[in-house]
Amino acid sequence: MTLTLSELLFSYVAVLLMGLAVVGLYFEFRRRHFGPLRSDDNVFRCEECGYVYTDDPNVERSRCPHCSAMNAKFNF
Ligand SMILES: [Zn+2]
Repeated sequence: MTLTLSELLFSYVAVLLMGLAVVGLYFEFRRRHFGPLRSDDNVFRCEECGYVYTDDPNVERSRCPHCSAMNAKFNF
């Protein structure tokens, strides 16, 4: 199988564009993943042991993963 010059150029450009797309997607993925450092999760601070943890934003009370005490949402 032999490639003509235009086929060679086309595949070169195609590979180049695909590489750019992959790099663009990679940075978009990184930005979405690490951009907002804080999530929407509620922060809880255990009244029993002082352990600070997070849970889903739709729960008002959450169980401490450290000592299993129930804690209300922690407000800063
Ligand atoms: Zn605790």
